[in-house]
Amino acid sequence: MTFNKKSIEDVSLKGKRVLIRCDFNVPIVDGKITDENRLVGALDTIKYAVKNGGKVILCSHLGKAKGPDETKSLRIVGERLSQLLGMNVKFVPSDLVVDDNVRKEISMMNDGEVILIENTRFRPEEGKCGEEFSKDLASICDVYVNDAFGTAHRAHCSTVGVTKFVDESVCGYLIQKELKFLGDTISKPSRPFVAVLGGAKVSDKINVINNLLDKVDTLIIGGGMAYTFLKAQSYSIGTSLVEEDKLDYSREMVEKAKQKGVNLLLPVDHVIGDKFDNNAVRKETIDQNIEDGFMGLDIGSKTCKLFSDVLKKAKTIIWNGPMGVFEFSNFNKGTIEVAKAMAEADATTIIGGGDSAAAVNILGFGDKMTHISTGGGASLEFLEGKVLPGIDALNNK
Ligand code: AMP
Repeated sequence: MTFNKKSIEDVSLKGKRVLIRCDFNVPIVDGKITDENRLVGALDTIKYAVKNGGKVILCSHLGKAKGPDETKSLRIVGERLSQLLGMNVKFVPSDLVVDDNVRKEISMMNDGEVILIENTRFRPEEGKCGEEFSKDLASICDVYVNDAFGTAHRAHCSTVGVTKFVDESVCGYLIQKELKFLGDTISKPSRPFVAVLGGAKVSDKINVINNLLDKVDTLIIGGGMAYTFLKAQSYSIGTSLVEEDKLDYSREMVEKAKQKGVNLLLPVDHVIGDKFDNNAVRKETIDQNIEDGFMGLDIGSKTCKLFSDVLKKAKTIIWNGPMGVFEFSNFNKGTIEVAKAMAEADATTIIGGGDSAAAVNILGFGDKMTHISTGGGASLEFLEGKVLPGIDALNNK
């Protein structure tokens, strides 16, 4: 997929009311923001709109609010944004998100000023893409900018509905960057192109596996999902995670890989434990098979070497899902080795959000990767080859 959507740089902002849909869905503990990466990530687009004379109105969802909920208010986000931007971000709260007072405040804005409105999920119709709230959002802007990649796979009022009632709907820098790396890299990868999939379940990644087999040179499968593939190949897997109803699917994918000439790599040995616990009795197997009473909790040393050797020769790598239970220090080596090999590879390296992004950051390899996607669900749907509604809704160039 080539990226042909208009960006914030393709429209005039001077004197216009510019509504930017950001992803300010940050973790808040005891009234404090504990991870402000998403706020920092939004700054470039906001600064650009300010510098170019827009009257900047920011909106976002926060948490799982299903209507007005003071504990999910964006007030604290506004305070922190003011500090990060070095200018006043005026928070204009309303249980309706958009009401007459919000409209009045916006009508009095000068060019280059910034207002933050309340959590879009205070309006229950947000998640249903209801027309009334979509029109309310459209009524407070001349230009709509979507910069919330993490919610681009959801057709909500603030991501899709609003675009039906605004002439100019464009993307911001964050979405542009995601599409450049996820979209352009996947459609025109430098080869060898290697995808690494792991994590708990095959069922979460069925369409990803199927779609990637049409594109990659090597597909590496590790983590909990590998055991369903191994069982389907008649290896003993002890008490490892398995999805019996996905055995046939796994065989089909192995067959598809053969037909497409894709090198499908599964673990050749494992680190096993007698229970799902960091302090489980821990052993390494000599081959693919796992003895009764033990479960695979990480890939083994031979597998680490096998996967690392392939990764170090790759030119494009996409990774989604840990190689083992990386939260347990006794079973995180496989995930660390894959992250290390990616960091050392002379390749474009992309982490597909969610758990793998967390793993890479926790293990200290975050700044060694070309791109870490900000959207777990959105990047998985992208890798499935799906069109994301929040991006599809934006104007073409
Ligand atoms: P996902 O959200 O599908 O990417 O899965 C991530 C989760 O998979 C992490 O919490 C890991 O602990 C878990 N996981 C990875 N490998 C295994 C394994 N061999 N057995 C059980 N859980 C695993």
